[in-house]
Amino acid sequence: MEIQILGAHLAEVKGARLTSLLIDRTLVVDAGGLTSALSLPEQKKIETVLLTHHHFDHTRDLVTLAANAGYYWRKQLVVYAPRYTLDIVTGGLLSSKLYTNFLEYPSEEKPTVILEAIEPYSRKNIDGYDVLAVPVKHSAPTVGYQITSSDGKSLFYTGDTTVGISECWQHISPELLIAEVAGPNKYADWLEKAGHLCAEFLRQELIQFRQLKGYLPRVIIIHIGNPYEQEIKEEVAQVAQELEADITLGYEDMKVTL
Ligand SMILES: [Zn+2]
Ligand SMILES: [Zn+2]
Repeated sequence: MEIQILGAHLAEVKGARLTSLLIDRTLVVDAGGLTSALSLPEQKKIETVLLTHHHFDHTRDLVTLAANAGYYWRKQLVVYAPRYTLDIVTGGLLSSKLYTNFLEYPSEEKPTVILEAIEPYSRKNIDGYDVLAVPVKHSAPTVGYQITSSDGKSLFYTGDTTVGISECWQHISPELLIAEVAGPNKYADWLEKAGHLCAEFLRQELIQFRQLKGYLPRVIIIHIGNPYEQEIKEEVAQVAQELEADITLGYEDMKVTL
């Protein structure tokens, strides 16, 4: 399994994109900074998009991807998310008030975007991957995804989340954990209220992971608060040292092979 981090940041600025992952060139997880990261031939290979939640920084490029798929290739994309998320995306980003309604364009019989609701805690085969959606704590209903390839390689991506992510650990056993750290420890109170992690929260949750599972996966951090990146990097490095774990910050266009 090849994982490409298209967007690893909380803010879009020159050189930094919003959260998005690409797996084996065809499966997208969250569509923040998606289309600006890929050429048209690369975008044409995308078949499926999984959404963790409806927030704009995770869904925005659904529209730009659907526009390219619909206008240039007449290709269909399947978008999976919990029903709540799909309903908000349908009434917002994909509404005909905003732009072309890709749920009906070019025709109602063969629209560009097909929505499929995913049930939390129920495994689903999607494009040959075993996908398990696990609810996480955030300011909006959100799921993390465990994605397992046919050869048994497995990652868990937390989506946006905060203290309490350890409630997921009993359901998953990933080789790679992709988690968020949105700000530095000095803003811990604010981050918890906003539904995000800092390095100290991550440390506590990883300790629980190891107690429960007897190992720690490799951890890559994304959804990095841009102005605090250096501070986050140092605080995450301290956690890695203390736990003797492989925890590093992700970056745009980073590739990881499992
Ligand atoms: Zn969010
Ligand atoms: Zn976010």
